[in-house]
Amino acid sequence: MATLDLKRKLAILSDAAKYDASCASSGGTKRDSLGGKGVGSVDGGMGICHAYAPDGRCISLLKILLTNFCVYDCAYCVNRVSSNTQRARFSVDEVCDLTIGFYKRNYIEGLFLSSGIIRSADYTMEEMVRVARTLREVHDFRGYIHLKVIPEAAPRLVNQAALYADRVSINVELPRDASLAALAPEKDAGGIRKAMGAVRLGVDAGQEKGRKARPPKYAPAGQSTQMIVGADDAPDGEILKRSERLYGAYKLKRVYYSAFSPIPDSTARLPLARPPLVREHRLYQADWLMRFYGFDRAEIIGETEDLELAIDPKLAWALRNRGDFPLDLNTAERERMLRVPGLGVRSVDKMIEVRRFKALRLEDVKRLTRGIEKLKPFIVTADWTPGALTDAADLRERVTPPPQQQSLF
Ligand code: SF4
Repeated sequence: MATLDLKRKLAILSDAAKYDASCASSGGTKRDSLGGKGVGSVDGGMGICHAYAPDGRCISLLKILLTNFCVYDCAYCVNRVSSNTQRARFSVDEVCDLTIGFYKRNYIEGLFLSSGIIRSADYTMEEMVRVARTLREVHDFRGYIHLKVIPEAAPRLVNQAALYADRVSINVELPRDASLAALAPEKDAGGIRKAMGAVRLGVDAGQEKGRKARPPKYAPAGQSTQMIVGADDAPDGEILKRSERLYGAYKLKRVYYSAFSPIPDSTARLPLARPPLVREHRLYQADWLMRFYGFDRAEIIGETEDLELAIDPKLAWALRNRGDFPLDLNTAERERMLRVPGLGVRSVDKMIEVRRFKALRLEDVKRLTRGIEKLKPFIVTADWTPGALTDAADLRERVTPPPQQQSLF
């Protein structure tokens, strides 16, 4: 095999990592390199570059695979052993040098490292741990590290990964265990859950009460996972039900939804086209409602249903539940205000602050939100009541954004 130069490897292995959706660095232990000690910071701000891929994903981390060689044959993956994609592999030192070099040039705020499986799960995990250990112990790197954990790896290696990384993630891959068995024969849904459970125990132990004075060292930014959407025919309701369980059982920080991308020479069991990106977006919005707005999954969507693509899930819920509206913004509780379409956490909190001193008028609400028209059918203020508008037969049409022509270029 011809030797690839570093630039070519980077091109191959960063491209191969684009299917991993993860860039959030929130919730980690604060570290910095003030006083000339160490390299990097997870404290945000200074010198950190953020970039976004055309599909909106954050790419502010150096997001790469250690290698895209893989002995597994997951049908939905371009790096599967039977794929004829060009292969490359970084050495541990190459990944460390790239991370430190890019960090010092302010290109990145940290490292996201995943990998195909080479030789064995243990061997691969060991290599990934070596990267994180070398960055922390040799380079004194204090920036953010996210390691993708291989669930089949030995528990001691998973623990080591979590001790060096800020966040670890273990992908559940697909919403249904049966789909995983059919499309990723070497993977085991039970083993994935077991590994996630072990990480949860480690995170919980690191956050025990008596140890509160010290920052937890075990994956302080917690764990996350990723589900591919549209590779099987699981509807959105089933996907969100799975997420609901994952959040509850493993205290995940995030479930990432990644729209399936068709790959060359794939099995006929996979769809030929990717689902619309807006489906991924709607899943994120629904997920957000469950985590931050007090919605139960069942309120948002039935298990066999798909989310509406034309309108966001909160608006869809409000249209189905008009009996809950209009809501008087001068007297309503915070929890109910958060259910008004178009009101976010920040705007609700500002309104609650303002209404302590004066009665909210439509103009106040307009100032504190992004758009008043969508809100008007659902709210009452000191100078506004929607009258029959809330129950108007054509309300859906009035509040549905007009379809947009997709860019051809
Ligand atoms: S384990 Fe499966 S999903 Fe991961 S790189 Fe290998 S083939 Fe792709």
